[in-house]
Formats: sequence, structure tokens, C-alpha cells
Amino acid sequence: MGVDLEGRFEKRYPFEFHQGDAIEFVKEHGHEFDAIHASPPCQGYTRGNAGRETKWPKLIPQVREALEATGKPFVIENVKDAGPHMVDPVGLCGCMFNMHTTDTDGETIHLQRLRLFETNWGLEAPRACDHSAHKWVAGAYGGARRDKYEAKYVRKGGYVPPDKGVVKALLGIDHDMTWNGLFECIPPAYTEWIGLNLRRHLLTTV
Ligand SMILES: [Zn+2]
Repeated sequence: MGVDLEGRFEKRYPFEFHQGDAIEFVKEHGHEFDAIHASPPCQGYTRGNAGRETKWPKLIPQVREALEATGKPFVIENVKDAGPHMVDPVGLCGCMFNMHTTDTDGETIHLQRLRLFETNWGLEAPRACDHSAHKWVAGAYGGARRDKYEAKYVRKGGYVPPDKGVVKALLGIDHDMTWNGLFECIPPAYTEWIGLNLRRHLLTTV
């Protein structure tokens, strides 16, 4: 079951979908579920908006309050810049899952994409983030460099492959997605890691 304020996401969601306020839904129905994942809008936390007035709300405290009230295991996901607003978040990055692909020029590129996850059940990262052995790293976000030489040597980071197929392969995604979808998504390998660990937690605490 997935909940979003915007009904337009229903067509891309493969399971039962409820359009509405996710915080209100958790307050009303959260206790009916085994576990709950929440991704509050990250735009209010993303660097660039920091310290600036933005139309995007900062909902992490309200989301946490609603989740804690259910007494159920939960996950709150957000971007690196939201870290100070999260409680002991765990960072997951592509390097921890050896995520890489071949760019259009034949060079191997490794995924550098940190996402933070706050849980109330002790999620841990598989290993530390380490790109020291990688010649080329790449990510997927808007407003970034499409030339990896410029990104690495001039801008010191921020390369996003211009080829959508390369970005999808880098993120481990095999179905069609919009560029914005790719920019905002959590790579399936991260979700699988969280799911496996959450299942182990649920099996050992029942
Ligand atoms: Zn990393």
C-alpha cells in the first residue's frame, strides 16, 4: 500500500494506492501495517534551499511523530542535507553495493549517491562509503555536469551521464522512468538491503 498527496503517481505505483495526506493516513491506519517507510519531500532540505525561504515544507518532525505513535518499525528516507534534522540516520551509497556500469565512452563509472535512512530498529550500512579506488564516479540529479572530465577536474564532482540508458544501468533500473524520476529515486539495491534487514528484524522480534 502506498500513499501520496498527488494522484498522478498512481499510474507508476504497482501496488494498492491511496491518494491523500500521508501523515494523516499514518495517524489513522499506521497501526494496521507491519512496517512503514516514509520519504518526506526532500526539496525543503536540499542544499541550495538551505537557509532560504522555500515553498517546500520541512515535514520530517511531523512524519516521525506520526510514525512513533504507531509503535511500528519505520524508515524515514531523505537527502544528505536533511541529516541534521534526522535521528542517527544511516547513509547508503552505490559504492556499498558495488554499483557501476560502462559509460558511452567505454569508461567504467561508479555510482556515488548518498541517501539517509532513519529507523527505529537499528538499520546498519553494509560498509563505509569509499570511492578511493574509483577512477570515475557519477550520480543522477538535476542541474549537474554532463562532461565527466569537467566534473572531475574542474568542478570536483557532480557528473551525471547524459545518456539515460547509462543512468538507468548505473542506478540498477530496468523499467522506463522520467529524468526527474531517476533524479529522485532510491536505487532498488538500497531498498532491497533495507527490506532484507527489516524482514530479519520483524522475524526476530515477533
Ligand atoms: Zn559511496
